[in-house]
Amino acid sequence: MGYTMDVISRSRKRLEEQNAMVRSRYNARQAQVYEKLPQVLEMDKQLRRTMVAAAKAALSGQDAPQAMEAVRRENQALQAQREALIAAHFGPGYLDEPICRECAGSGYVGARMCRCLEAICRQEQDKEAARLGDASQQLEGFRLDYYSEAWNNAIGAIPRKVMENNLKICTQYAQNFAHGAGNLLFNGGTGLGKTFLAVAVGKEVAAQGYTVCYEGALALFDKLEKARFNPTEDNLRRARELEECDLLIVDDLGTEFAGQFVIAALYGLLNSRLLAGKGMIVTTNLTIAEIQARYSPQIASRMEGEFTLLRFVGTDIRKLKKQGL
Ligand SMILES: [Zn+2]
Repeated sequence: MGYTMDVISRSRKRLEEQNAMVRSRYNARQAQVYEKLPQVLEMDKQLRRTMVAAAKAALSGQDAPQAMEAVRRENQALQAQREALIAAHFGPGYLDEPICRECAGSGYVGARMCRCLEAICRQEQDKEAARLGDASQQLEGFRLDYYSEAWNNAIGAIPRKVMENNLKICTQYAQNFAHGAGNLLFNGGTGLGKTFLAVAVGKEVAAQGYTVCYEGALALFDKLEKARFNPTEDNLRRARELEECDLLIVDDLGTEFAGQFVIAALYGLLNSRLLAGKGMIVTTNLTIAEIQARYSPQIASRMEGEFTLLRFVGTDIRKLKKQGL
């Protein structure tokens, strides 16, 4: 399972906070125990001494194994005595070491992520998926009944049929997502379900363990611009994610101000993702001709050649909802 750097850095921060919290609670409890049971303080001193002795024994000559064994036994007996004493006065486990033993609270065992950090990452990943939209925003929840079954002269098709086909393509794309799955371009007016469908595909793909980034065009170019003109480690990492995630969803391309930077950045992003065989979904009100005029012929031809174009048609769903449909 891959996690984005954002998820990992949030999770590490949470682990640190958690460690600090349990550490301070542990210290308070320890002081309490020592005050009521001074014997425990003596035992802890003794335990530390036996540990030092064990270390020395390990470094010394021939009878090291026996010496180690003796120390270990003494240690165990003392440990059990200590635990029983604390349990009798404060309850069992009152003064258990609170920090993860496997990684000593660092979150890593060597280069491998420890289970404790992994668990937090999973939670953060779920939050991230939830951020992609509310739980109802699933492919199965896409309502075809919002689209008319009547022939529409303006588009030369039956909206319901067009959208049925779009839903089918999106479902197949999501369910068979893999490296080199290709790209989708959603084109059409506002309120026709482009964002809904893009997010639903993203959730399905994320549920299979792929990394999915969802960005509105404004936020996307903002991240790229920060990485370019204020290349702090964090800013560079966020931009790198846009290049490296398995699926990138760019919502509402065309709502940003398309200056020279945006045009160059969009071309760079498209190229590097296409070259790496990484999937993209772009939603936009713009047609290919408008993309060509707004950005560049190169960008338009890349999108025309490498994206499956899905035309979104029908009546603005927000208006239909207002009418109580
Ligand atoms: Zn751990």
